[in-house]
Amino acid sequence: MLSEFSLIDRFFARRATAPSPRHDEEAAKPLGIGDDCALIAPPVGHQLAISTDMLVEGRHFFPDVDPYALGHKALAVNLSDLAAMGAKPHAFTLALALPRADEAWLEAFSNGLFALAERHDCALVGGDTTSGPLNICITVFGDVPQGAALRRDAARPGDDIYVSGTLGDARAGLGAIRGEWSAPEASAWRRALERPEPRVALGMALRGVAHAALDISDGLAGDLMHLLKRSGVRAVVDADAVPCSDAVRALPETARRQCTLAGGDDYELCFTAPIDARDALAKIATDVKVPLTRIGTIESSGAPAIAWRDASGAPLSLTLQGFDHFHAD
Ligand code: ADP
Ligand code: MG
Repeated sequence: MLSEFSLIDRFFARRATAPSPRHDEEAAKPLGIGDDCALIAPPVGHQLAISTDMLVEGRHFFPDVDPYALGHKALAVNLSDLAAMGAKPHAFTLALALPRADEAWLEAFSNGLFALAERHDCALVGGDTTSGPLNICITVFGDVPQGAALRRDAARPGDDIYVSGTLGDARAGLGAIRGEWSAPEASAWRRALERPEPRVALGMALRGVAHAALDISDGLAGDLMHLLKRSGVRAVVDADAVPCSDAVRALPETARRQCTLAGGDDYELCFTAPIDARDALAKIATDVKVPLTRIGTIESSGAPAIAWRDASGAPLSLTLQGFDHFHAD
């Protein structure tokens, strides 16, 4: 049986790269795993962007989930928060509760985790390991130039509203697993659910172009409301303009709207930008190879609300709710 420290060393510490130094002074050298604290600092003129996300077995993933995919997703959902602020990933910590030290499981989990970490040059700098019901908590640290973060409270009347990629595949995958519908595309949906791709390059490219942004983790309807409330504005959104995959488009209308407008776990970005940024955004979409779709407009200040329209502009009355852990459906 592996001890706590040989487990940390074999699956995490030995594979971790040190955080990259960003200061000339020897005194400010960064420090990774092995001491009581890690030491990091943002480059001069930057702010640290920090976010934590926890994944709990039975709540966020099924007990039989592929451990490689779980390692990927645990970090991906955190990198998505950095992307939503326009921050560049730098380092992360990993707090892990494990029911047992299963070596094959740990090997696959750490492979999934480090494959994504290395792609984003994000160093594992510390953590905590304990026995207990499976629970994974990651904290990420990123850098953003002073004042350049994409905040939720920066939407302005007249802004266009955009989303990246397509929405609804992850929720469709959950529906297929739960037997709510069956489809030949279920494996692609399951991939969307288990292997989300954080939009880090897009978030950084949106600095200085977009006004407000957030990532869509709990469904467009609920998440967009967070942005509207923080900015004190209203939105008009064309429900039929919300981009989805052909497979989701083929679902019955009610299921399609549930998936695209209120489905969780998409990790696409939703952001607002002034009309005169349209050309710059078309270029950004090409540069980062992520489609961007205009879905609506920010209206004058007022009680935050979303007015849904269909493709013809007719009002739609939809009762949609994002995911809430304490009021789950
Ligand atoms: P302490 O008791 O001082 O909190 P620990 O004995 O828990 O330290 O951890 C020893 C070292 O290993 C620390 O540097 C800690 O950050 C690191 N560590 C522990 N668990 C993990 C993990 N799951 N991933 C990465 N680093 C870890
Ligand atoms: Mg500890």
